Amino acid sequence: MSNDGSLLASVTVPADQGRAIPDAATRETIGYAPVHSVADLDAAITAARTAQPGWNAQGHEERSRILHAIADDLEASMEELAVILSREQGKPLDGPNARFEVGACAAWTRNAADTVLDPEVVFEAGESRAELHYDALGVVGAIGPWNWPMMITVWQIAPSLRMGNTVVVKPSEYTPLSVLALLEVFNRHLPEGVLTGIAGDREVGAAIAGHPGLDKIMFTGSTATGRKIVESSAGSLARLTLELGGNDAGIILPGADVAAIAENLFWGIFLNTGQTCAALKRLYVPDDLYDEVVDTLAGLAGAMPMGNGLQAGNVLGPLQNQQQFDIVSRLVDDARSRGARIVTGGEAAPELGPLFYRTTIVADIDDGADLVDEEQFGPVVPVVLYSDVDDAVRRANASTQGLGASVWGDPDEAVEVAKRVEAGTVWINNHGAINPAVPFGGAKQSGYGLEFGAHGLKAVAQPKVISR
Ligand code: NAD
Repeated sequence: MSNDGSLLASVTVPADQGRAIPDAATRETIGYAPVHSVADLDAAITAARTAQPGWNAQGHEERSRILHAIADDLEASMEELAVILSREQGKPLDGPNARFEVGACAAWTRNAADTVLDPEVVFEAGESRAELHYDALGVVGAIGPWNWPMMITVWQIAPSLRMGNTVVVKPSEYTPLSVLALLEVFNRHLPEGVLTGIAGDREVGAAIAGHPGLDKIMFTGSTATGRKIVESSAGSLARLTLELGGNDAGIILPGADVAAIAENLFWGIFLNTGQTCAALKRLYVPDDLYDEVVDTLAGLAGAMPMGNGLQAGNVLGPLQNQQQFDIVSRLVDDARSRGARIVTGGEAAPELGPLFYRTTIVADIDDGADLVDEEQFGPVVPVVLYSDVDDAVRRANASTQGLGASVWGDPDEAVEVAKRVEAGTVWINNHGAINPAVPFGGAKQSGYGLEFGAHGLKAVAQPKVISR
């Protein structure tokens, strides 16, 4: 560890003791992340178990005060955190990206601090009365992905801490430094053992899933890994919140004002360069608007600067890792080979850096193509023609995933269509806009359990009925 006092220095180790973490844009080494083992995980869980009664005993008011102090500190550390995040994850500082993500970390921490979960009277008759109380669960294990590493970690830890739990966090092996830096800020305000980061690989993730010392696992990542966690946690019966993959459909209704929805539509698709769980990943468009939508999206794609995240003005970045770059390349190549029309993009942008892929609009493509049926998780969208709204709803629902969806057009008409779409959230004239007070969670194989607001607090609490 170097001792220049910076957050980055405090979370990196000497080269011979760690794993090199590349800058997502340039692939140059940013620093070396610690490599924690299953033994380190065991020690962290033991420490968390020891610290939990004392943390719980501090009470809601004190924990809320501490969470507000953390949120203040996150805001004060904004620039330093955003630079680490931008370099490691790839998202630019500007636009709805790295600074925005750190700001969201503060906002979600404050929401967890301010949301009240009072006991509920669920039955009352004469002398009889039943109350539902929400106690701490104990120790929570949090496993996260690489796309919004700081914000998603806060979604997992802030409600858990608020409810009196202690937490052990395992960041994605692709983005450990961002998460360790975030935890460093939290830990300036927390007692020893309450919150520990374990920067391990997938083996450590698997050990969390089957660990007898955990009462709850908060997991955000792929559906395939979510399934493994369900299996591994059968022994402990740890409670689970699973936020998994998505292949969100967007339906534009006949008569929609394309110019009015264009910007929201673009960011609904390309937020975080498309590497967003609840991004719009397949767009269904009626005949009369098809060419206008395709041309409008292509125009915006050309106008939004992509490049190194530290350069002011860029709003789109690289794919975070080679694996994701290969998935995106394969899906676009497959679409092309099926005769789909690549309206713009459709190739790497090597002049920007090794893992940049141009913003890509694919038209004249149908369900059945891998690019429509699978989650691309990158800067490309298939635009699919539909004949009538019933047909569009049927196709939107013909997926095993159901994280988010959106309907675009007259808001009243859109709400009626939204009622028929199978997803955890259906946005109207928007996609992916989240709010710390509004519950968020998936339908079907996009996972189960709700996060945010009072529903999120309940998910990290033990309900207890007191009946007399
Ligand atoms: P991933 O499933 O590959 O990895 C997620 C985490 O799980 C990592 O920390 C990894 O080390 C860990 N892990 C790996 N094997 C494990 C095991 N057997 N047991 C326990 N943990 C294990 O996912 P990813 O590639 O990091 O993230 C991309 C995926 O996450 C996409 O599908 C995306 O849609 C989804 N995602 C969902 C949400 C949401 O809120 N629903 C948010 C972000 C990302």
